[in-house]
This record gives sequence, C-alpha cells and structure tokens, in this order.
Amino acid sequence: MRMGLAANAIHHDHDDAALFRWLRASERGIRELQLSLHAVGRTYAAILRVGLLADYPGLIRYPYGHEGGLMKLVAEVVGMPEPGRTLDGAIYLINPVDPSSTFPEAVALKRQCVIHQKAFISTVASARDWIESERIHAGFAPDPGADDLYALESQTIALIAHDAMKPQMMAYAADHFDVLSRFAHRVGTGTTGQQLNELAWSRGWPQDRNWVERYKSGPMGGDAQIADRVLERRCQRAIFFEDPHVARQHEADIQLLERAVTTVTDQTVCMTSPRVAHRWAEAVRQRAGRG
Ligand code: PGA
Repeated sequence: MRMGLAANAIHHDHDDAALFRWLRASERGIRELQLSLHAVGRTYAAILRVGLLADYPGLIRYPYGHEGGLMKLVAEVVGMPEPGRTLDGAIYLINPVDPSSTFPEAVALKRQCVIHQKAFISTVASARDWIESERIHAGFAPDPGADDLYALESQTIALIAHDAMKPQMMAYAADHFDVLSRFAHRVGTGTTGQQLNELAWSRGWPQDRNWVERYKSGPMGGDAQIADRVLERRCQRAIFFEDPHVARQHEADIQLLERAVTTVTDQTVCMTSPRVAHRWAEAVRQRAGRG
C-alpha cells in the first residue's frame, strides 16, 4: 500500500509534534504493513531529522510544497497511468489555522480521496486508527497501544450524510448496526439522525428512545453544533459521507466541522467515505473477536 504524507508546519516543528507522536505510535505497524509513505519535502526532512523510520525503504521523498509536492499527491490519489504512481490515500495532518490548509491543492487532496473512496486521514487519532485497522485486516494481532481507540463503549460518534449519500449511510448503519450500537452515544444532523432513528426502531431499538441524538439539520447549523461537541472532546469519531459532486450553500459549515476535528488531533477520528468506514467497521468486529 502507498499513502501520501504531508503535515502542516506546526505538526513537525518540535520533537513531540503531531507527526512524530503518530510515527512513534505507529512505526511498528508501518513496518509490518510495509506501507510506502510518499512524503512531501519538509515533512520528509522532518522525519529524517528526528530519526524516525530510520533506514526504512518505504519512506519516499516528494518535492516541497512550493515545488508542487502536494499537487503531485492529488494527481496520484486520482492515479497516473505510469506504474507506481497511484496512491491508496493520503495522510495530511492539518493545522486549521495554517493558511496552506485551505490552499486549492489541500482541498483537492481531500476531495479526490472522497471521490475515489480512498482514505483521507487528517488527524493523529485517524492515522493511528487506520494503521491498526489495516494491521487487523492483514492478520496481525491487536496492538494494545491502540486499545483506547477501540473502546467504543466510552465514545460518542457523529453520523452525517449529505442528501445523495443518505442511502449509503442507511445501508452502512444497517450493515454495522452492532458496531455502531456499541458506542456510548450517537449524534447526527437533523435529517440524517431522523432516518437513522427510524432504521434503529425498525431493528428493535426501544421506540421511546432515540438511537441518534439529533442536532439541527446541516444547512441550519447542525454541523457547527456537532463541531462544538468535538472541540469539547465530547465526540471522538465522525463518519461524514460527503457528496463531492454538488456545490452546497453550507460548505463553510462542513469545512468547519472537519477542521474542528483537526484541532483535537489526538482525540478524534474522522472518516469521509463509505468504503473506508466499512473497512473500519469490519476491523472493529475482527479485532473484538481476536482480543
Ligand atoms: P442533514 O444535514 O442530516 O440534516 O441533511 C446533513 C448536511 O447536509 O450537513
């Protein structure tokens, strides 16, 4: 597997920065999976500087941002015809107050990951979670260092889907009702939440209880309300099925929620495509079976 890798400056400018916290937690898994990391210039240099992934042949240098490194990652997420130039997703550790996180190439990186159903990983927790999920799929024994991420009974999850993606969200919740029901609490935007509650009631959830706590509908500010929960560390996961093909009037709110997640980078996991979210839920089940 090959992943693009970039991190905003604050995430690699000191020895305990986010990029290094992730690599310290996941280096073993990266080596076990023989994961190729295609790292843009400064991110690559920072990893060498701190001595992580020493002599790892899968760490590959890309140009600096100002030379187009992030742009190349976008093209390779889409896939280039030449052999070896297709990425399986991107790890982009975002600092939401770094202006470069709003550059077109940064926005396009996420959008093309969503369109091509590849992992877009923007937080330390998401990156740790993704490595553990891939380890489980590859048949490795659970890493006790990732147990905190899999303690679903103590977590809240947000479930949000844009209109064109609502059927996929309902299918997802139906397929993984057991996994999603393990969470201490579920929250959602208004319309998504209502549809999910109806699904849960049809599956035997008590009629007098909501399966999902509903906030306002997305266009009326529900994403911003859920973002506040995230900022207060009262929501540890978000599954957000975005429709990348339509322009939305509340685009700013959607970005706000996804950027809120990156401000609590160690605590919150965000997944933006059905394929990635399915793979995670399957790993949860397998991991529980092996634990
Ligand atoms: P909805 O909001 O669940 O109320 O449709 C989702 C969104 O559009 O953000």
